[in-house]
Amino acid sequence: METVAPFKEVVEEIKEAGGEAFKYCFQCGLCDTVCPWNRVRQFSMRKLIREATFGLTEIDGEDIWRCTTCGRCPQRCPRGVKQIEVGISLRRVASNYEVFPASVRSARTARASLISEGNPLQFERKKRADWAKDLPVKTFSEGMEVLYFVGCYFSFDPRMKKVAVATAQILDKAGVNFGILGEKENCCGESIRKTGSEDVFKSLAKENIKTFIDNGVKKIIVSSPHCYHTFKNEYPEFMVNFEVVHISQYFSELIDTGRLKLSRSYAKKVTYHDPCYLGRHNDIYDEPRNVLNKISGLELVEMTDSRKDSLCCGGGGGRIWMDTPKSERFSDLRLMQAKATGAEVLVTSCPYCITNFEESRLNLEYQDALEIKDITEIIHEVI
Ligand code: SF4
Ligand code: SF4
Repeated sequence: METVAPFKEVVEEIKEAGGEAFKYCFQCGLCDTVCPWNRVRQFSMRKLIREATFGLTEIDGEDIWRCTTCGRCPQRCPRGVKQIEVGISLRRVASNYEVFPASVRSARTARASLISEGNPLQFERKKRADWAKDLPVKTFSEGMEVLYFVGCYFSFDPRMKKVAVATAQILDKAGVNFGILGEKENCCGESIRKTGSEDVFKSLAKENIKTFIDNGVKKIIVSSPHCYHTFKNEYPEFMVNFEVVHISQYFSELIDTGRLKLSRSYAKKVTYHDPCYLGRHNDIYDEPRNVLNKISGLELVEMTDSRKDSLCCGGGGGRIWMDTPKSERFSDLRLMQAKATGAEVLVTSCPYCITNFEESRLNLEYQDALEIKDITEIIHEVI
């Protein structure tokens, strides 16, 4: 079946989502040369833009769901076309028509879980703080130094819960007066927005903002670059501004001010992966490296594609919930790049990257070749 979205609706949606910059596209194709999809299969953002311009988008196809919102092509476009916003607007049209190809249907499950439980992982809201039940972690109250906004994967996913525990123990050791919101915390809404479910995003964001205001929150520490991006760049759309700090920045500050002492060494060769939403989208490249460089014994080496050219793990734009065939996973390529440096550890600072990398580690049978770590776990080992 070929579904052609009405010209007017597609064009109006695009205008609403990101203005009219898509009209300036002159079909140079530079976006396709940097897009990570073209390392694993054919995909053309240039073609999507062309079709959208004429309202000829096939909204029932897979292509409108491919973009991981990695941020590489907008950096390179000579005409300032906002490719990510155009892509999201097409997903909004498809979501409005409830048209989803098979590989995307799991994103609908995530959406239903976000609506009922405030997380995309189908866990009960009341279990959101269970990861902390054996720790002396307090509920946030006004006057505390910082709110630790844990995020969904760190609250529920078995692999990522270890990172939440390590984070709380590090903050405790540094003497930080922090608290969490427990079951009052909702998903930040970043990824569901990128799948076109604007209404769900707005409702999650409004609830979080109300909770922050009601509880007197001023400064928020986050472990996920996706929470960071949304609080910093998207929540201001609701006329609010909270101080948001990513955990890698906060560790850097705690170490520099002497509150956190790195007393042990970590004698391993390590390579750092820049998550798209920390690096390209928010220019945070140096702090994680500064932290790693302060650890005695640790040797930091760079991969082929690093910093602004970092290779996306494949999990952004809601793709973390969608099915990607094994032969098309960017995370496999990233692990190969990491292994080629001779590093024993691939370290990063994003729950989606860790989830995809752990899966690729199994797929590639790299269990003996490479460890996958969140930066928090390395700090935890050396304090
Ligand atoms: S890089 Fe920009 S101008 Fe060139 S094809 Fe892509 S969207 Fe169009
Ligand atoms: S944002 Fe990234 S994944 Fe999306 S089209 Fe551009 S380069 Fe490809």
